[in-house]
Amino acid sequence: MLVDVTAAPDFTLKPKVELHLHLDCSLTRTALHRLGNPIGEAEFRRLYTAPERCDSLMDYLRAIGPSCEALQTAPALAIAMDELLRALAADGVIYAEIRFAPHTHQRGGLSLDQVMEAVTDGLVAGASATGIEARLLLCALRDYPPAENLKVIELAHRWRDRGVVGVDLAGDEAGHPAAANRAVFDRAHTLGLPVTAHAGEAAGPDSLREAIALIAPARIGHGVRAIESEDLMAEIKARNLHLEVCPSSNIQVGVFGDYAAHPVDLMSRRGLSLSINTDARTVAPLSLSLEYRRLAATFGWQTGEFLAHNLEALRHAFLPEEKKPALGGRLIEGWGG
Ligand SMILES: [Zn+2]
Repeated sequence: MLVDVTAAPDFTLKPKVELHLHLDCSLTRTALHRLGNPIGEAEFRRLYTAPERCDSLMDYLRAIGPSCEALQTAPALAIAMDELLRALAADGVIYAEIRFAPHTHQRGGLSLDQVMEAVTDGLVAGASATGIEARLLLCALRDYPPAENLKVIELAHRWRDRGVVGVDLAGDEAGHPAAANRAVFDRAHTLGLPVTAHAGEAAGPDSLREAIALIAPARIGHGVRAIESEDLMAEIKARNLHLEVCPSSNIQVGVFGDYAAHPVDLMSRRGLSLSINTDARTVAPLSLSLEYRRLAATFGWQTGEFLAHNLEALRHAFLPEEKKPALGGRLIEGWGG
């Protein structure tokens, strides 16, 4: 067990905002059932989840493989999104930004626009069934050719009024510097698309500095290795960059040795703007409520910390500003702030 949470409160009913989770790492068993795969709980765990601490990146990638394989048809994408929104709502999430790389879902012959039609069908279905607010981020991938990533940016622009609120740089950070995709994100900025970028997870402060300088994101996925540089933490604060922190996910892939060694509490006390996220609900496996219990059990986080970080998440969400006050009101009411 990563953290003993038996003494921690249950946060399931508390309203939450989640800005960083991947569709293809969050395929639910219920979605597979709806797609005609009667997989049992034990088999699902064996095939679709990775160990809480992976010995290698291969352990982790092996668990994503079956989900990616399943998400190559329009019904699969629509049902996966619908069921993910239902799972998020059951976890108390009231606003979520869900990300995926559309060009990784074309192995079954779907065009990029057909991928978007399917995912947004699921988004509408799940949102109307649960009342959750959810939006989409499209991921360009560090290890894909920039020409392919440019298509993702243009796609995000075309689908902006239909659920897409921004773009992300994801993929293999350690082996692929952000520089190769500079022109791709220049185009995103020209189009006025909000940008977030994975950085400071698999690689250290230099990679973070590079992403900040070349990609100019408003938010950073992870960013936790900023803890290795005082200057960098000061720069992140000065630029008002928001960090989408995913503690259990970092432990799972070995960025930090154990939960107590994760810098999220230190970064919070240093006044950095950060949110708490799952990253990969199925691969972990994890809910945001469980992540909160781990924070409560390990660092003694209470209502004050959770409300503050949810409000920071909402403040830096790519959702239109006019939508935010109502959600903020629900956060404050729900946490008794
Ligand atoms: Zn991620």
